[in-house]
Amino acid sequence: MPKEQCSIITIFGGSGDLARRKLYPSLYQLFRRGVLGEHFAVIGTARRPWTNEFYREIVAGSLENEPNTSADAVQRFASHFYYQSHDVTDADHYVTLKNLSNKLDEQYGAGGNRLFYMAMAPRFFGTIASHIRSEKLLSPSGYNRLIIEKPFGRDFASAKELNDSIGAAFNEDQIYRIDHYLGKEMVQGLLALRFTNPLLTPIWNKDYISDVQITLSENVGVEERAGYYETAGALRDMVQNHIMQLIAYVAMRQPDTFTPEAVHAAKNELFANLPVLTPEQAKRDWVRGQYVAAGDQPAYREEDGVASDSQIETYVAGRIMLSDSRWAGVPFYVRTGKRMPRKATEISINFKPLEHNIFDAVGCNEARSNRLTVFVEPEQGYTLTLNGKTMGSEYALRQDPLSFRYPQDKIDEAPEAYERLIQDALMGDQTNFTRWQEQDATWKYVDVVRQAWDDDAPLATYAAGSHGPAEADQLLERDGFKWAEEFD
Ligand code: NAD
Repeated sequence: MPKEQCSIITIFGGSGDLARRKLYPSLYQLFRRGVLGEHFAVIGTARRPWTNEFYREIVAGSLENEPNTSADAVQRFASHFYYQSHDVTDADHYVTLKNLSNKLDEQYGAGGNRLFYMAMAPRFFGTIASHIRSEKLLSPSGYNRLIIEKPFGRDFASAKELNDSIGAAFNEDQIYRIDHYLGKEMVQGLLALRFTNPLLTPIWNKDYISDVQITLSENVGVEERAGYYETAGALRDMVQNHIMQLIAYVAMRQPDTFTPEAVHAAKNELFANLPVLTPEQAKRDWVRGQYVAAGDQPAYREEDGVASDSQIETYVAGRIMLSDSRWAGVPFYVRTGKRMPRKATEISINFKPLEHNIFDAVGCNEARSNRLTVFVEPEQGYTLTLNGKTMGSEYALRQDPLSFRYPQDKIDEAPEAYERLIQDALMGDQTNFTRWQEQDATWKYVDVVRQAWDDDAPLATYAAGSHGPAEADQLLERDGFKWAEEFD
């Protein structure tokens, strides 16, 4: 049983979608597992004038589809929740919040610990942080930590402004920037695969790897998020954060130890090796696309809330060449899109063929390169494809997949990404959160691509439900590669 965590957790945006869908269920599971015991209270804030009783009903209602609930446990859990009507721009409201926090701290024995969660639109983050500081909400005794949601800015300039504003109240070692992909089992598991297997660790470099492919596909369209998506697009929504973080876990050097400091040092070195693209390189190596109607699936421009002449990309594919000597010449191909054939996150590591194969000379040339594919979701596990001999007297080769998949019941039981990340924040472990230097480097890279597109670059189209535009296939064909067929 992990040590019980004591804290007063303040959620800005306690009536919102994120709080109901992710935060309350995650906190409940932490309560059920004893990570949160009795020494915690949650203050939910939002504009609406709710009572504690009504808020507790909302919290309990958000657990309806959660596994392992009982009426008694839900009621005990919800009794730790308090509601405070709050306008983020009103300084007096922060004084009320501070007094409530101090009172609850005494009541629950929270040890002076404070966890602030910004589950609101990012435009409020700076205001909240400056009021937290000016109205002295930070606790002088225990810890003070801030969890902050994506999007972390919409380009380098806005990300820096946001970072400076939260930095006025919190130090870097108190800031937990969420990228929920870092809370996924197989993303964390990737480090175990890479750094514990003598079979893999020594060959994880340009000498043995020909290319890396990362696919994050969704089969849904823009759903109810058109308002946000029309100002973001796939590059900002998926590449700057999730895809870049996956690249870091695939490509960073081995950290000296498995500590937050060592992992982030390795990631920083990697991101320092993101090249500075020229606009021409950006246009050559990045493809953007938008889905058009196919079958009964509408075009992006026909979705609710989308402009009929929208230029926003719902698909991105790119080729990243790291300027790191360990990866010289190894392309990292990435793609992400909406209305693709299925929802999946997969990472394929393609190994180089042997320079000399004794079977070639005798006409037995079916050997293929080895491939390791890590299935992040919905399947979770990995497959390593090896060459072997076909059974029988004839000498021919075949490819055999060695596959491991976590069984569905284990996946169902495992903590969800938000649950892991909130637990990490309560424990003070920043490993699976992003640091400012990572935001800095990835935004600078992505801004060049965005700018090149905005200046002048075609917006390709793809049929809804397809794999993406033909231009994305050409990106690989140009180098003599093709997208991993596992995804097909
Ligand atoms: P939402 O619109 O559902 O909720 C926003 C919350 O802010 C509500 O509780 C609202 O009452 C409160 N609020 C708005 N203006 C306020 C004001 N002036 N004073 C006090 N409270 C105010 O938004 P959401 O979907 O919960 O998203 C919250 C954040 O999380 C956003 O940054 C979003 O990008 C991010 N996020 C959300 C999801 C998700 O699944 N919903 C996923 C990833 C990231």
